[in-house]
Amino acid sequence: MAFDSLTDKLQNVFKNLRSKGKLTEDDVKAALREVKLALLEADVNFRVVKQFVKDVQERAIGQDVMNGLNPGQMVIKIVNEEMVKLMGSETTELAYRPGQQITIVMMCGLQGAGKTTTTAKLAGKMKLKGKNPLLVACDVYRPAAVEQLKVNGEKQGVEVFSMGTGHSPVDIAKAAVEHANKNGNHVVILDTAGRLHVDETMMEELKAIKEQVDVAQTLLVVDAMTGQDAVNVASTFEEEIGIDGVMLTKLDGDTRGGAALSIRAVTGKPILFAGMGEKLSDLEQFYPERMASRILG
Ligand code: GDP
Repeated sequence: MAFDSLTDKLQNVFKNLRSKGKLTEDDVKAALREVKLALLEADVNFRVVKQFVKDVQERAIGQDVMNGLNPGQMVIKIVNEEMVKLMGSETTELAYRPGQQITIVMMCGLQGAGKTTTTAKLAGKMKLKGKNPLLVACDVYRPAAVEQLKVNGEKQGVEVFSMGTGHSPVDIAKAAVEHANKNGNHVVILDTAGRLHVDETMMEELKAIKEQVDVAQTLLVVDAMTGQDAVNVASTFEEEIGIDGVMLTKLDGDTRGGAALSIRAVTGKPILFAGMGEKLSDLEQFYPERMASRILG
């Protein structure tokens, strides 16, 4: 997966640390320099890496650690703990509106990030939890996207609401909510249009949807394979429309897992789910602790 190379490098650093009995300050600093390089190579945001290494170093060079029984092991433990912190420590659950209220979830992201796939994956997860979600095709620019959502919705056994491409996304979203009210859907998931790059028209459209239907959760889908670009996209969406969380896709890819470690620290927003493959069942809830264990190997 995305962290294989990072994991290998960290494992090497840790092996060296473990092999030493006592540790000097220089040993710790040298090890952390290696950790820093490995993180940068995995495309973790530079500022995040700097702060991370500083935090680990401050804790690791304390007397308790250096004079302890097993200093190498302690340093590794600190790296693990700081990594979990970086990703937000706690798992963030998708917040549903209470009682019979409909929770409207707006999915957004750039074209190709995996938005439509992730939307269908999420609907499947909700169904397993006893929810009755309605998927809504709001991409009025690409008939293929509407079709893709219909096909995926069918596979998941989830109803797809579509009005083709002849209406505005706001009108489609409003009509979908009305439909959901009549049909007893607890959740309405809006699959909005993506573009190749962030642009004003896309942002205006998303803002209009947010203003005119009562969106409870705005979830941004970003592609982990794009590394720091994914983090930049997340920052821009957060500034422009405000997001509640991130769905990080393609973590099964073999490059640049850095986005997983940077997004929370840079944007302040949690990763809710991770896409781990192309199949509609390949979506995992994001557990910072589990992710840190995977990264550290
Ligand atoms: P959209 O343009 O953002 O709606 O993107 P799509 O949902 O059409 O996905 C683009 C491509 O990424 C498709 O080939 C998906 O199968 C693929 N994809 C989506 N999520 C994942 C994932 O978690 N892992 C992998 N390997 N591929 C994914």
